[in-house]
Amino acid sequence: MADTGMDKIVSLAKRRGFIYAGSEIYGGLSGTWDYGPLGVELKNNIKNLWWRMFVQDRDDMCGLDAAILMNPRAWEASGHVSGFSDPLVECKKCKRRFRADQIGDLSTPLGARKCPECGGAFGEVREFNMMFKTQTGATEDASSVTYLRPETAGGIFVNFKNIVDSFHPKLPFGIAQIGKAFRNEIAPRDFIFRSREFEQMEIEYFVRSGEWEKSFEEWRKNVHVFNEAVGIPASAVHELEVPDGERAHYSKRTIDFEFDFPFGRKELYGLAYRGDFDLKAHSDVSGVPLKMIDEEGQEPIMPHVVEPSFGVDRTVLAVLASAYTEDELGGEARTYLKFNAAVAPIKAAVFPLLKNKPELVAKAREVYTMLKKFVPQIMWDDNGNIGKRYRRQDEIGTPYCITIDFDTLGEKPELKDTVTVRDRDTGQQERVAIAELLSKLAV
Ligand SMILES: [Zn+2]
Repeated sequence: MADTGMDKIVSLAKRRGFIYAGSEIYGGLSGTWDYGPLGVELKNNIKNLWWRMFVQDRDDMCGLDAAILMNPRAWEASGHVSGFSDPLVECKKCKRRFRADQIGDLSTPLGARKCPECGGAFGEVREFNMMFKTQTGATEDASSVTYLRPETAGGIFVNFKNIVDSFHPKLPFGIAQIGKAFRNEIAPRDFIFRSREFEQMEIEYFVRSGEWEKSFEEWRKNVHVFNEAVGIPASAVHELEVPDGERAHYSKRTIDFEFDFPFGRKELYGLAYRGDFDLKAHSDVSGVPLKMIDEEGQEPIMPHVVEPSFGVDRTVLAVLASAYTEDELGGEARTYLKFNAAVAPIKAAVFPLLKNKPELVAKAREVYTMLKKFVPQIMWDDNGNIGKRYRRQDEIGTPYCITIDFDTLGEKPELKDTVTVRDRDTGQQERVAIAELLSKLAV
């Protein structure tokens, strides 16, 4: 992580309680990260917005929360047991292991490449399965082997029949799930971009086989609508058509949505047409035909699938990178997070002008309690002077700071029951009636 832009984001995220290294007091655990008080709010806001937009606001979507542990035959059916692997090489001298496609100049044969740590030569490339293996129950033999799911999609396919039987949906319809997934990455890197434990937001959208292109285009647009809603600028997102030969054999079309991360242009989301590959594979291995009746009186059919797949942590990182801003305000350099109000972990902070004036504190508490009833993500702050509080709130991306002063109490009668509201981006303050605050926050 040599890039300074990235260093600054990682440092702010730790200092202000967004994201910490996992198990830090024990020296960490590579590829794991812990979300702190502000990080969990930011992440929940992103997930809630996604759920609202793609599940609750639509009438063609069902939500799901399937178990992380699944019958291992599901991962045989999906091809993960035999094929979900990365090429691994080991240095013959220092025994360190690397992903073969991440070391040295890829145009040079592996035999001519040297270990980046010690200059030693590499042994043969072997395939390393990235699924975390574990056991269910007290016996430790082949029959008890299970895996932590490497993606959430599997849980959706194995519940296809349940949902069809409960809800009798008509095509096209989708099933959406948000949840943890685990991959034993050989080389976790770039902060929360590539970690071993992460969260996904996935949709399997079931369509008639001849109609996938229309749904594909709709989801392609939806990806951009979601980006805009969370504050990822369109100018930083690039569609990459995955060419023939690089797509999975069953996919007729795949688009990677790439984002300009501080460490380079990398995949943020994926959109793939998967045909009937998954339903067919799970039907074959389970022996349960995963079909549905599309039109009364007709034979059951196996729908095809369009799959938009979103990484939660990558979205958090893209939102942080997009929001990170350095400017000058009132002649002083400042750093702030220009979050959209929809994702900001704190929507507004409430201050009494002075913390040693009981009447100011009491009035500020009253305003704080009233707002918090409707907008839970409100923060109380009475620490240090007003200037310092503003800077602290700017740094965590709070759109508005609300100050209760002597005019609020009626020192100037015409200003009684008004407060100052200070805008994060402009630093401008305006006088707003307490009764108007909720509509001002507009969340
Ligand atoms: Zn070595």
